[in-house]
Amino acid sequence: MANEVILHSLHLDEPWTLKTYESTGGYEMLRKILAEKIPQEKIIAEVKESALRGRGGAGFPTGLKWSFMPRTMPTQRYVVCNSDEGEPGTFKDRDILRYNPHQLIEGMAISAYALGASVGYNYIHGEIREDYDRCEQALQEAYDAGLLGDNILGSGFSFHLYNHMGFGAYICGEETALIESIEGKKGQPRFKPPFSASYGLFGKPTNVNNTETYACIPWIMRHGGRAFLELGKPNNGGTKIFSVSGHVNRPGNYEVPMGTPFPELLEMAGGMRGGRKFKACIPGGSSVPVLPGDVMMSCTLDYDSVAKAGSSLGAGSVIIMDDTVCMVRALERLSYFYFEESCGQCTPCREGTGWLYRVIHRIEHGQGKPEDLDLLVDVSKNISGRTICGLGDAAATPVMSFIKHFRDEFEYHIAHGKCMV
Ligand code: SF4
Repeated sequence: MANEVILHSLHLDEPWTLKTYESTGGYEMLRKILAEKIPQEKIIAEVKESALRGRGGAGFPTGLKWSFMPRTMPTQRYVVCNSDEGEPGTFKDRDILRYNPHQLIEGMAISAYALGASVGYNYIHGEIREDYDRCEQALQEAYDAGLLGDNILGSGFSFHLYNHMGFGAYICGEETALIESIEGKKGQPRFKPPFSASYGLFGKPTNVNNTETYACIPWIMRHGGRAFLELGKPNNGGTKIFSVSGHVNRPGNYEVPMGTPFPELLEMAGGMRGGRKFKACIPGGSSVPVLPGDVMMSCTLDYDSVAKAGSSLGAGSVIIMDDTVCMVRALERLSYFYFEESCGQCTPCREGTGWLYRVIHRIEHGQGKPEDLDLLVDVSKNISGRTICGLGDAAATPVMSFIKHFRDEFEYHIAHGKCMV
């Protein structure tokens, strides 16, 4: 498609190299910003106008987030990229790291200039070692070309960027756990406030954005915030990469304008595997509520439409399930993930995720009790909103939504000790 913002170079040979990136206009905006000393306020204003919302899952307006950074205080500031993509269903950021790392580097350098930061870290999920190696190669190319380091292109602006390998813990995708991990500590979320904008990495002002978010910045600066906004729809600017997995004919990453009708994405992914019935969809990664297939078919792909339908666009990780899926079994798998990944810091999450998994496990294995569904809802409610970070809610949300939309399957399992599909 003509308007691809991120995945534009995928059809080229060696799409990741500096040579390829520069052949498509890469680093022109960084060069222009530094040569013309474009004011920081102007860059932040463009990002605000673009209505770019954080692509990591929360959907927070990026320009507004940038405006929280205390830029005038004489202190060290940091920009950090959250490439710790580890939620079930998510696999878009690794394609950016693998195929278009220079766009991320340019986006981070422009962000660092706009926010007055001289050091940045790209925190990469520990289970994608080959992408870390690719990013290291790209970083070396950028340093060799004088696009990173001291006094970049003679502008007086210095920016040192480092890749930082995580170790695969899901919780390190939470921005304060990620910061702790970079500092060499156990990756556990911090109490908030204070927020990272004022007290982040090493106690200094820090801006944390997702990989895809930073990678949008060069396009916004080249074409303007309004042009980016107009790619999508009001309050939902630009294009977005959707990772489609599950029972479709062509799972993969698809970049489409925000606001695209969901059936178009399903068609791009080749439609339902074997022409089977579209039963259910988790539209934004495993932490968001599941929706019945027919509800999802009426949505457009933007934060507001999916929220109105009762779920969340999250990171755009679309898990498609056909009518062969047992929803009890699916929920058991998800619950085990959150039980495993709880960092154990707060009681409702540490104990509650174990309770959820064990009760769902016994329902799935034919030992459920009639009172179990009420127990699951009760435990979920006692986790939600009572924890230090969002993992507690992320564990409780699927349970409540699976029971809400597919209660009959859970009741059948309890009554008959086996699956109804
Ligand atoms: Fe750790 Fe869970 Fe508490 Fe988050 S909610 S801090 S993962 S115990």
